[in-house]
Amino acid sequence: AKREHGGRYRFFDPELYIAATARAQLRHSLQGALAARQFELYYQPRVDLATGRLCSMEALLRWRHPELGMVPPAKFIPIAEESGLICAIGQFVIEEACQQMALWRAAGLAVVPVSINVSAHQFGHGGVHAHLAMHLARHHLAGAMLEVEITESAMFAEGVDVHGELAALRELGVRLHVDDFGTGYSSLAQLQRLNMDVLKIDRAFTSELTVSPEGRVLFQAIVSMAKALNMKIVAEGVETAGQLAALIALGCDEGQGYLFAAPLPARQAGGLLSRPQLM
Ligand code: C2E
Ligand code: CA
Ligand code: CA
Ligand code: CA
Repeated sequence: AKREHGGRYRFFDPELYIAATARAQLRHSLQGALAARQFELYYQPRVDLATGRLCSMEALLRWRHPELGMVPPAKFIPIAEESGLICAIGQFVIEEACQQMALWRAAGLAVVPVSINVSAHQFGHGGVHAHLAMHLARHHLAGAMLEVEITESAMFAEGVDVHGELAALRELGVRLHVDDFGTGYSSLAQLQRLNMDVLKIDRAFTSELTVSPEGRVLFQAIVSMAKALNMKIVAEGVETAGQLAALIALGCDEGQGYLFAAPLPARQAGGLLSRPQLM
């Protein structure tokens, strides 16, 4: 141990060291990942609970690391945000999603909108709107074919004119989703002021639905407030038939989760476009 000012000792912590090294290694390989074409989008269907039809697909980023295999986004997105790489990665996501819709259309499939996840850092550095407009135009896609998901915390990030960015996206016809609703501190009134179209209720609330009466009451309250404010409700993480029945009874508009389908590679997701009845 090393003697510090004030006479206290600081010990070397091997666990912290290993975590920090793993992070440094990930950060390093993340830098070359775009050029090495290691990223891929998977698509997870969102289902209209009244008709059982596929209404949209969420694009979820996958990183195939040559040695580590699939690295989950929860591991690498935070590192990409810290290092600023998220902007280039975010551009890849926009490009790829637009190109994929164009490919599906060219294959004669009935394309549904794709929704993409955007982090606050991307708004901070501008260019989301310009990039999106460019790729929509390049592939002759209407703005309504893209949806943008943004978390509550990202919406109120300091020093970023998220409001202005969101307004510009809306001008394009892009629909705006609040992601992971209920995990942050925003009020529905704030969200309505920002003109958000859709509320995606976090998976934690869906899993509580059939577990406790309180869970159901809470979900019901969110649904009624959102309806009063004219926002659509999507339940995330729908895994069981029991949850589905409860959601339908509560008047929830749409659902997403393993019960319908896991996130799928583009080829398999394309297959769903030709038989879009999912329940
Ligand atoms: P998210 O936006 O909340 O995405 C939903 C996550 O829940 C996905 O995890 C999905 O695979 C998972 N999921 C879907 N249905 C179920 C279910 O029924 N049960 C359970 N337990 N999980 C379910 P994934 O793909 O690992 O993504 C994690 C997070 O990483 C996303 O959460 C999103 O915040 C972020 N992310 C993913 N792709 C991107 C991207 O392109 N850009 C940015 N900025 N963030 C992304
Ligand atoms: Ca999302
Ligand atoms: Ca979410
Ligand atoms: Ca989430």
